[in-house]
Amino acid sequence: MDRSASQLPELGQDPGREYRLGIMGGTFDPIHYGHLVTAEQAREALALDLVLFMPAGSPAFKQDREVTSPEDRYAMTVLATAANPSFYASRFEIDRLGVTYTVDTLKALRSAYPENVHLYFITGADAIIDIVTWHDAAEIASLATLIAATRPGYDIRQAQARIAASGIDFDVRYIQIPALAISSTNIRDRVRLGKSVRYLTSESVMGYINKNRLYHM
Ligand code: NAP
Repeated sequence: MDRSASQLPELGQDPGREYRLGIMGGTFDPIHYGHLVTAEQAREALALDLVLFMPAGSPAFKQDREVTSPEDRYAMTVLATAANPSFYASRFEIDRLGVTYTVDTLKALRSAYPENVHLYFITGADAIIDIVTWHDAAEIASLATLIAATRPGYDIRQAQARIAASGIDFDVRYIQIPALAISSTNIRDRVRLGKSVRYLTSESVMGYINKNRLYHM
């Protein structure tokens, strides 16, 4: 993959040092403060140089409900991340046709960046618990360190046992994020019921939701 054609930020320029790239994977329907705090705390805890927010393209694994268009989810991601110099919103998955598998994204990023850039895939622990069933799970394990963000009260033992039983050598770091008491589901429900979502997501995202009548009845 050509990094400039894909509008990926530059990283790995100095061959004499190691770089760390975070990839924040999620549907982001919509993005909220829980996601932003997760990325910021992962950045700090693991000394990540940059975090790429990667809204999922066509989540075929989400047949149970209608997902907001990729362009709307991407636009909200741009708005929410715009002011942070370490955060970038990426079109990579939404521009791909068909289902995007995490392994394909990681392979493309691996080939776009030099070897001194280590990849860290960040997502919710509820998603990570299923990683053993994801497409090419063993290859994911060889391409990236995984950062699993947990909501308060989340018991990581079930995820740890499932991952250990897979026999795949995943490197998973768990980080507890109290702000993940906020959820996209709850925001969608509140909008549908005409309730306030102020302070759950940014003013810019809230404005975008209202202007485009997302999640309304
Ligand atoms: P999901 O099942 O919608 O989310 C599971 C839980 O994790 C939800 O509670 C969700 O909360 C939370 N979450 C999701 N993304 C998060 C993030 N970046 N930071 C903190 N919490 C997060 O998961 P999903 O959004 O569909 O998928 C998550 C990532 O895994 C995506 O990048 C997706 O492409 C990848 N994935 C890949 C495969 C595969 O390759 N086969 C399969 C499944 C998922 P909110 O609803 O509040 O976000």
